[in-house]
Amino acid sequence: MELKQMLWSAARATYRERMIFWLDELEKVNRDARLWLNEVPIESWCRANFQTRPKCDMLLNNLCECFNRYILDVRDRGIIDMLEMIKVKLMWRLRRKKEDMQKIIANGRERICPKILKKLEKLKDESIFYVVEYSGGPSVSCHGHGKTYVVNMMDLCCDCGKWQLTGIPCEHAVAAIVGNDGDPVDYINECYYISTYMNVYSHYINPTEREELWPKPAEDVQPVKPPAQVQKRRGRKVTRRKEPEEIEIAAAQKKMSKKATVRMTCQICHVEGHNKRRHTQGQNKVYLY
Ligand SMILES: [Zn+2]
Ligand SMILES: [Zn+2]
Repeated sequence: MELKQMLWSAARATYRERMIFWLDELEKVNRDARLWLNEVPIESWCRANFQTRPKCDMLLNNLCECFNRYILDVRDRGIIDMLEMIKVKLMWRLRRKKEDMQKIIANGRERICPKILKKLEKLKDESIFYVVEYSGGPSVSCHGHGKTYVVNMMDLCCDCGKWQLTGIPCEHAVAAIVGNDGDPVDYINECYYISTYMNVYSHYINPTEREELWPKPAEDVQPVKPPAQVQKRRGRKVTRRKEPEEIEIAAAQKKMSKKATVRMTCQICHVEGHNKRRHTQGQNKVYLY
């Protein structure tokens, strides 16, 4: 468990030195784990090594998992039905996203998306713990929580790594901006603008015509033949996804039955954990019942 925490700390570290610190800690506990990690490309799992251009600090591939969940109820359909249903879902989704943002545009005069503004408010709260010192140049020193960070107002980066990674000024940068009578909102990356969002959702999926209106293939073109029917294996069970409640009930039952197990005692040596029959098979062995 300790090892797992260290791995996460290394992955979450936003600058190289911090990442190396945690990897060294991990190595102290388990050298093999470090050697194993050396085989994995570090830029794929460690924030400190992520590229800063995509402005993305996600460690887990939530996008895939979300999409997988999103199409869960249509996944077991035939291929054409499935694609059609996914298409309709996406059609609906794109329209809804656009309409939701249009409502926000109508109600406010912000140019940044609401979730990012919320994040910025939190960062503003954290930034009050920092004391800033201006050099007259683009670099600003920012001291707090026993550490000094250097923010570069020209390059829009901080040596904590977060600003360049996310495109949102980190707490240190916010302190430096606010201390200089600036508005942190002006320093947020363009990718979080409402106008960018609307641009992304400016496209839509057109409905498809029914099959009888589809163009006919030329006469000399042979239609693609379906694959030869494979003999269905008999007696193969259809795997069905368990509902969350079912999983819970099963887990509870398992727990119950474990508790109810009678501990057996050997009639020869009177030691718990094995029976008379197993006695001769080696007394040092631990049997799991
Ligand atoms: Zn910072
Ligand atoms: Zn025994």
